[in-house]
Amino acid sequence: MDRFSELPDYIIHQIMSYLPKKESAQTSILSKRWEGLFASYPILDFPDSYTYLSNEKYSRKHRINKFIEFVDASLLRFCQQKLCMQKFRLSIDVLDDHEGSFAFLDKWIRLAIEKKVEELDFDVQAYRMYTLPQEIFLAKSVTTLKLGGCKLENPFIIHSLKSLTLKDARINEEVLQKITSQCTSLEDLFLSDCCGFTNICLYNACKLKIINMQKFSWKLRSIKIVVPSLQQFIFDSESYRELNIVIDMAGCPNLKLLKLSNVGFTEQKFHELISKFSLLEDLNVCRCDPLEQIKISSHLLKKFSIGYCYGLKAIDIDTPNLLSFTYDTCPIPNSFSFDEFRKCSPSPPKEVGNLHLQTDFTSNYEAFLDGVLSICYPRILSVNNSCQADCFFIEWLYEKLINKDDNCCNIHDIKCWRHYLKNVKIESFIPYKDKKPLHLDSLIDRLRELPTGTFYFHLDW
Ligand SMILES: [Zn+2]
Repeated sequence: MDRFSELPDYIIHQIMSYLPKKESAQTSILSKRWEGLFASYPILDFPDSYTYLSNEKYSRKHRINKFIEFVDASLLRFCQQKLCMQKFRLSIDVLDDHEGSFAFLDKWIRLAIEKKVEELDFDVQAYRMYTLPQEIFLAKSVTTLKLGGCKLENPFIIHSLKSLTLKDARINEEVLQKITSQCTSLEDLFLSDCCGFTNICLYNACKLKIINMQKFSWKLRSIKIVVPSLQQFIFDSESYRELNIVIDMAGCPNLKLLKLSNVGFTEQKFHELISKFSLLEDLNVCRCDPLEQIKISSHLLKKFSIGYCYGLKAIDIDTPNLLSFTYDTCPIPNSFSFDEFRKCSPSPPKEVGNLHLQTDFTSNYEAFLDGVLSICYPRILSVNNSCQADCFFIEWLYEKLINKDDNCCNIHDIKCWRHYLKNVKIESFIPYKDKKPLHLDSLIDRLRELPTGTFYFHLDW
């Protein structure tokens, strides 16, 4: 007997979990023991009915029927063993004769629940929505439940449930409120593309820590959350226009992470919302065009990111413990006056660890660099060379930093960054693909021959 076959079952199951489904199924032909090991493998994963037998010339109907036979046989084989199921994942594109296929889905859910399944991940694409069988109410062992393309007409109470994901599901506010308040262990809630909501109101969810809401229709009017345990709230309407909704989260004083995308906030509404979170550490605002000004003052904020806010005109940040700031694809002023800036900015530039810059053809490089280096002195300045525009910028930047002409502020007391920069060198260049740093000699001269990657300049101040 080979050494590998001497391994205990649970170790071999662990190894099988790293293999693609097809290969782990192939192990069953190795020997009788492997056949048994495959049948007793507690993770039943059927991720995609689309690709099942896809490279063979069968009709869609034939392939789906074969897929159903395969899932059914695998499940029945597992159920003959006296074992608990860790995970049952199924993604299926159901045939037009719903009733026949839905009967299989009902049966499989029942079997998985009988086998005390812990993670149930069920994604059903069908012309008519699949309604979950009543047995879901009896699932006492489920800790993770992911449902896609399902209809939830009644709330369920699963005391063991810690994580709930509903994608493309039909559910109303009342059912959602009941589920979140009655599943008393629930920690994570993820909703995506769920229709049926106008006003979402969540309360009495005593352990809920994370709420992630994606892709909401324009019908959504308001969200009210009164969950003191909540630590993370992520909302992205992903609609073609910003969603004009009211978000009331005054009942979430312990929030640490807030990510908002595609929300039509006014400045007043935005500042009112974030003023409620005195413990906030991570703030991400994206695609909120009506925002013209952002003003933030916090001792706890560590990470702040703004992206695609085209209406933005001013940002005022008083966050002494900030570790990371990202400003992505938002307007950059066309001109910059260091004197004007000095008059209105009370604090001298801060030293920061890493500053990553990205610009495009339309940017005024000079104003961009002067503006950025008036706010902070980076020890490492990184720039990508992903396109032509990047190469132009890198050449320009390197030239500016090396040959800085500091006859600029002679008549002024407070001087610009040029007077404080002592030395610049290329610290490294790391290609995206092969992550090995390249030899640094004459890198800038060979810029256009280089693979795409990131330049790191070391700056001494
Ligand atoms: Zn100067």
